[in-house]
Amino acid sequence: VPVLDLREVRKTYATGAAAVEALRGINLAVQAGEYVAVMGPSGSGKSTLMHIIGCLDWLSYGQYLLQGNDVSRMDERRLAHVRNREIGFVFQQFNLLPSLSALRNVELPLIYAGVRLGERRSRAREALAQVGLSDRVDHRPGELSGGQQQRVSIARALVTNPALLLADEPTGNLDSTSTADVLGLFDGLHAEGRTIVLITHEHDVAARAGRAVYMLDGELSEGLPERTG
Ligand code: ADP
Ligand code: ADP
Repeated sequence: VPVLDLREVRKTYATGAAAVEALRGINLAVQAGEYVAVMGPSGSGKSTLMHIIGCLDWLSYGQYLLQGNDVSRMDERRLAHVRNREIGFVFQQFNLLPSLSALRNVELPLIYAGVRLGERRSRAREALAQVGLSDRVDHRPGELSGGQQQRVSIARALVTNPALLLADEPTGNLDSTSTADVLGLFDGLHAEGRTIVLITHEHDVAARAGRAVYMLDGELSEGLPERTG
C-alpha cells in the first residue's frame, strides 16, 4: 500500500456568501521511499494540500488513505493520534522553543508519545546525530544558525520514526548556503529510504526531489512546468 493515497480530494472554504474551491479533485499516491516535491505559485492550494496530508484539516469530498487507513472520516481525537504517530512536520519557521536546548526540543514529541526519560534522551541524541548535530545538543536555538535550527527541527520530526516526513517550505527562511545544507540532508534521508513530501514555491528546490508535482488553481499535475524567465 502507498504511504499516502489521495483520491478525488476536494476542499472548499466557505467565506461568507462566497466559496473558494482550494482543491479540485486531487489524485496523488506516494509510495514508501519516494521523495516528492509539491510545487506551485502562491494561492494554488499547496498549504491546503499540506494541511490535508498532515491531518490538520478535513477534506470536503473524496478519500484520504494514510498507510492504508481511511483518515477522511476520523474524529479529531483519532486524527491527532495518527498525526503524532505517522507524520513528522518540518515548517518554514522551525517552531522550536527558544528556552529549551536542542536535545529538549527534539525530545518533545516523545514526551507527548509517553516515552520514558532514559529512552527519550537516547533517541533524541540519535536523531540529532542523524542530522549532524551531535556537538550542538546543549545549545539553545538562539545559539544556532538558521540552517542548524532547521536541522534540529528535522531531528524533532524524525525522532518518532514517522511513516512520512512532511516539510512545508523548509528552506523559505534560509540563505543559499543553509538551503544547500538542508537540501543535502533531505537527499541523505531519501537515500536512507525515508518517505518525504516537500512543499515549495521554488523551482530549484522542487527539482532536487526524485519526483515533482505541480499545483495550479487547485489542480495537480505530474512534473514541473518549463522554467520561464
Ligand atoms: P498556497 O499555499 O499555494 O499559497 P493556499 O492553499 O493557501 O495556497 O490557498 C488556496 C486558495 O484557498 C486561495 O484562493 C486562498 O485564498 C484560499 N484559502 C486558503 N485558506 C483559506 C481559508 N482558511 N479560508 C478561505 N479561503 C482560503
Ligand atoms: P507555515 O509557517 O509554513 O505557514 P503554519 O504556521 O501555517 O506553517 O502551520 C500550519 C499548521 O500546522 C497550523 O495550523 C499549526 O497550528 C499546525 N502545527 C504547527 N506545528 C505543529 C505540530 N508540531 N504538530 C501538529 N500541528 C502543528
